[in-house]
Order: sequence, then structure tokens, then C-alpha cells
Amino acid sequence: MTKQDFNEGLLGFLDASPTPFHATQNMAGMFANAGFIKLHEEQKWKLEKGKKYYVTRNDSSIIAFTCTQDKNYVMVGVHTDSPNLKLKPNPIIKEHGVVKFGVEPYGGVLLNPWFDRDLSLAGRVTYLDSNNMIKDALIDAKKPIAIIPSLAIHLERDANSSKSINAQTDISPILSTSDEFNFDEFLKEQLKISGIPDVKELYANELSLYDTQNASFVGLNNDFIASARLDNLLCCYVGMLSICSIDDKPMLFIASDHEEVGSESTSGAGGSFLENTLRRLYPDYEEYMQMIRSSLMISADNAHAIHPNFPSKHDSKHAPHINKGSVIKVNSNQRYASNSKTISRFMNVASSLSEPIQSFVTRSDMGCGSTIGPITASRLGIDTIDVGLPTFAMHSIRELCGSDDAHSLYKIILGFSS
Ligand code: ZN
Repeated sequence: MTKQDFNEGLLGFLDASPTPFHATQNMAGMFANAGFIKLHEEQKWKLEKGKKYYVTRNDSSIIAFTCTQDKNYVMVGVHTDSPNLKLKPNPIIKEHGVVKFGVEPYGGVLLNPWFDRDLSLAGRVTYLDSNNMIKDALIDAKKPIAIIPSLAIHLERDANSSKSINAQTDISPILSTSDEFNFDEFLKEQLKISGIPDVKELYANELSLYDTQNASFVGLNNDFIASARLDNLLCCYVGMLSICSIDDKPMLFIASDHEEVGSESTSGAGGSFLENTLRRLYPDYEEYMQMIRSSLMISADNAHAIHPNFPSKHDSKHAPHINKGSVIKVNSNQRYASNSKTISRFMNVASSLSEPIQSFVTRSDMGCGSTIGPITASRLGIDTIDVGLPTFAMHSIRELCGSDDAHSLYKIILGFSS
């Protein structure tokens, strides 16, 4: 696949995936198209060698795998969630001449860039249908329905020197000047658009706001890709395409929810989804352990590129550049799971393909982030490497990556199976 085709598909995937639910639905559709067989966790599995499968949990996490004779799996682990503003259960506030949404930040949101954006709403709604069955559906309002206006500088003279944002009082998006707005009617209308006309009662929802500005190339030579949710839909896309390009080699792809809030949930990497799936693939414990100890997990997430305006935030010897290749992340305190053995395997494949690699270590006087890598490594005992794609503005509503790096990582991952 050419880099151009790869990147065009990436922009489409980013725009079509405003929430983890939508990302999972889109990846499931991609796997179905590529001949993967859908499995249901609550039904009996009859796996056959030579076939490919996928399974979802909570509509927000997905695993795809090949079923082969060999046990030395190459696994790619990523996450479906991104920091955002989520609606509270009773979200409607009517005051000062407007209708507002009450929201709660999800994950480590960089709040400043959320002001003055044309926001829409998407996510999962759970309801009672006309047959008294509890059902779920995804909605996506698609058009801009809300905005968080900045406070004018005349009313806050020190806004450019010391700005603090109160997450309870300062970030409620406004959506109307008419207090006739009825949220339940709005949701029913959205469900109707999604093809669900028979809603008897609305029960609960998980809805979040997102920027309606589409992903786009930026830069004189399309050097950059700007989008929301690059962390970590960028690596979702890389992993998804990688396993779709493999036929008879042992490979597994897992995209987990809730990484941005610690991964502790049924659908998070700290939960049992991967282990449960692998145990059904290898019911015999002896064989299971042979597979675990001969497999490699590539935990792929974003990595902080050195910011040209803030270079002192990086260790100058471990400061990745945009469009200079995949980043191997190292942390002696095991915030990243890479070790010299797994790093060497990755370097070996990258160098055989002449693909560039870089390394990242957080400054020793700063705290280090983490990924699903150490969680998976310690839960299951799979040798793991943490890699990343160089990114600016991580956790902003509009992040920035290079237009070369994701395609390069895709080639390296395929190199493990060739
Ligand atoms: Zn991430």
C-alpha cells in the first residue's frame, strides 16, 4: 500500500471515529470486509486453523487474530479512547439566556484548545425498544451543535499570562438560546436518524463532544497530519491495516478502551479481555504458556516529538523528530515495557527494511507517562516493546503528527511477519 493511499484512508478513519464506540465499529467493519469471522464472547467458539477472527467487548474494545499452527504471535496493542469532554447524566443547564451542557473531562484533557471550536456530539445510547428489550445504538450528530466561547480579553486582562481553567464552571458548551430544547427529544431524533424509530424509553448514555473540523494535511509539502484523537487512533489504524495485510502468520491486534483513565475496566488493558481470548485460542495451559512465552507484544502509542518552541522539555539525546521514524520508548522504572531484548528485535526488523527509528526517554527531572505496554506485560507475561509515533500537542483537541511515520511503522510491523 502506498503512503498516499495509507494516509488518505487514515484521514477517513479519523473523521469517522469520533468515539471509541465508532472506532470499534469501523474496525469491526474493516475486519469483516477483510474476511475475518465475527466471534461473540457469550457463545461457544469453534476456531479453525487457517482462519481469521475478531471479537469486541463493550462495543469499545476489539481483538482480531489469525489462527495458525505457529505459536510465536506478533501482537500489536493500542487504545481506542482519547481525552474529551463527556456529558453528565443530567446534562442540561438553562441559565443566563442559553442552554448549556454539563460536562466532565475524560482523561488528561488539554482544556485550552477546546474553546471556540465547532463541537458535535456522539456516542452510545441505551434504551428500551417497543418490544421491551434493552438495546444500544450509536449516534453521531455530525453537525456543529455546541461551542465553548472564550471569555473576552477585556474581561480578563491577564488571560495571556496566567490562565487557569475551572473544569466545573468554565467549560460548559452552549447549544441554544431557546429554552424549549428537550434533550430526550433530541436523542430520539438522533436515534431515528441512526435507523431506530421505536424508542419507548431512554435509559442511559455515554456521549462525548468532539471537534467537527476534519483531519487534514498541513504544511508546505503536506508534512503534517492535524486531527483530533491521533492519540491513539493513529496506531489503531496502523495495527488494523497490519493484521489485514497478513494471512497465514500468527498475529493478533488488540485495541482497548479506557487507557487514558488507567485501563482498569472490563474493556481496558487492565481487564481480562486479552487473557480470556487467548485462553479460548489455547485451552490447553501448556500450549497457552508456550504461546505466551514465544510471542511479542508491540505496544504502539504516540510519543512526544521535541517541540521546536519548547526544546528544554526534552532530554536532547532522546528527542524524537517528526517524520524521522518510529520511536522506541524506554523508562528504567518500567513505565514503558521495552527491554534490550525486545528493542533489539524491533531494531533488527527496522534496519533490515532501512526504516528509521528514534528513541525517547523522559527528562530525569520530569514524570513519565505510561501505556498499555507494562500492564499487558505484567498481567500476561508477554515480552513487550513500547513504541510510538512522534506527535505534537498530545491530548489537545487537535494534535499533530508527521505524514511519513505511521506508514513506516506499518512496514516494520509487517516486517515481523515476513
Ligand atoms: Zn495514548
